[in-house]
Amino acid sequence: MGKALIIGAGGVASVVVHKCCEVPDVFEEICIASRTKSKCDALKEKLDGGQTKIQTAQVDADNVPELVALINEFKPDIVINVALPYQDLTIMDACLETKVDYLDTANYEPLDTAKFEYKWQWAYKEKFEEAGITALLGSGFDPGVTGVFSAYALKHYFDEIHTIDIVDANAGDHGYPFATNFNPEINIREITANGRYYENGEFIETEPLEVKRVYDLPEIGPKDVYLLYHEELESLAKNITGVNKIRFWMTFSEKYLTHLRVLENVGMTSIEPIDYEGQQIVPLQFLKAILPDPASLGPRTKGKTNIGCIYQGTKNGEPKTYYVYNICDHQECYREVGSQAISYTTGVPAMIGAMMMLTGKWKKPGVFNIEEFDPDPFMEALNEYGLPWHEDFNPTLID
Ligand code: NDP
Repeated sequence: MGKALIIGAGGVASVVVHKCCEVPDVFEEICIASRTKSKCDALKEKLDGGQTKIQTAQVDADNVPELVALINEFKPDIVINVALPYQDLTIMDACLETKVDYLDTANYEPLDTAKFEYKWQWAYKEKFEEAGITALLGSGFDPGVTGVFSAYALKHYFDEIHTIDIVDANAGDHGYPFATNFNPEINIREITANGRYYENGEFIETEPLEVKRVYDLPEIGPKDVYLLYHEELESLAKNITGVNKIRFWMTFSEKYLTHLRVLENVGMTSIEPIDYEGQQIVPLQFLKAILPDPASLGPRTKGKTNIGCIYQGTKNGEPKTYYVYNICDHQECYREVGSQAISYTTGVPAMIGAMMMLTGKWKKPGVFNIEEFDPDPFMEALNEYGLPWHEDFNPTLID
């Protein structure tokens, strides 16, 4: 049916490649292109021999002409961006120039400031409309499946959703005193930023990790959850009509937070470059270099993740609650695709989003967040491709 250019060869890309190869009638040919070509070749070596034809390429995704040349050579129907958030705009520019559909899993971030805002990418809406191509933003788990869950809840169970609580729990243990489950730079930027939630038309700021609750999660048990800002709050506030409160909660263990506090206090999480013996060094990037590579955590991580959304609203004038969540087992993911659950829960939805676009189910010119499309075929595909979801119509609520 189509050809996909996959940019990036890290933890998430590896899952995307595995999953695309499971659906060869949709992904007939893929090209894995990244900064370090040997990582692309290693993936190809693992998966070659199936029905999906695989090629690899070296590309600097910060460089639009290089991207354009690669797209013109491979002629993909879609570009799946699973590099880093810094590359979103250059890849979108290259897609515009070559008129190819675009998908990513994280909003654009400038290198020097962590903003978690969609404004730069939303600004491409008209250009994508004029070019007649689709950009699907945030097709990971959160953002991603959380937006699909929200569209599904609204379509099937509510006349109005008033409150959304997104709960992202990782009860995995990799046995290291401190490591991050995905790109440490992105992960630490997210946690050390101020918390923020949406209420009555505005965003309210909190100190980093200031608001804490305990939530008893199915199959995981009671966990400390902390209020964080997460990029899907911005799009859900805009797209889920009538919603007046949205919060995002993430679990962190006391041990993890203690390490993080120390690193922060000594300045290691800063994104401000410092001069070290005549060389400019970003402390957070240096920290990334000394922490375990997230890709190496796969074989060591045991336990489960549980990510879901709790909704409150009304149906036929009656109050209604609904909780929809996925549970993923780190070791089962590792057995299946050689990655832990964090990469798995991001990579599977990226493949499904691309499948929605290649099969023409989700195709309209412009730039869209995931909740703007019909959730039903995506929800079906989640069950089919490894992320089954569960429903609870009487969940415990978060105060
Ligand atoms: P990794 O750091 O494991 O991989 C990133 C890959 O991008 C690496 O292969 C890297 O190359 C490549 N890359 C970086 N810069 C460039 C460049 N300029 N040109 C070409 N390739 C480049 O990250 P993850 O796989 O963990 O994450 C991928 C994306 O998924 C990120 O954007 C992350 O924010 C997002 N994500 C989204 C989630 C969600 O639920 N929505 C959850 C988790 C992650 P090299 O090997 O040379 O360094």
